[in-house]
Amino acid sequence: MAFCVQCGQMQNDGTRFCRFCGGQQPGDQLIARLRMEAESIRYQMQQMQAQQMQQMNYGQQQNQQRW
Ligand SMILES: [Zn+2]
Repeated sequence: MAFCVQCGQMQNDGTRFCRFCGGQQPGDQLIARLRMEAESIRYQMQQMQAQQMQQMNYGQQQNQQRW
């Protein structure tokens, strides 16, 4: 089951053009590419969060030393 990216109407799987609005639907290749991009963005986010955690831990250690 798929939904039109333009109007949101229900489409048959593999439909290239919406039968309601005629909007072109993303093909499997595009969806695969978007998944890969989303995956790499999620990876970057995880890296950033890990760095932030390290910085927070570092700051806490410094506070402990100061007290
Ligand atoms: Zn449509």
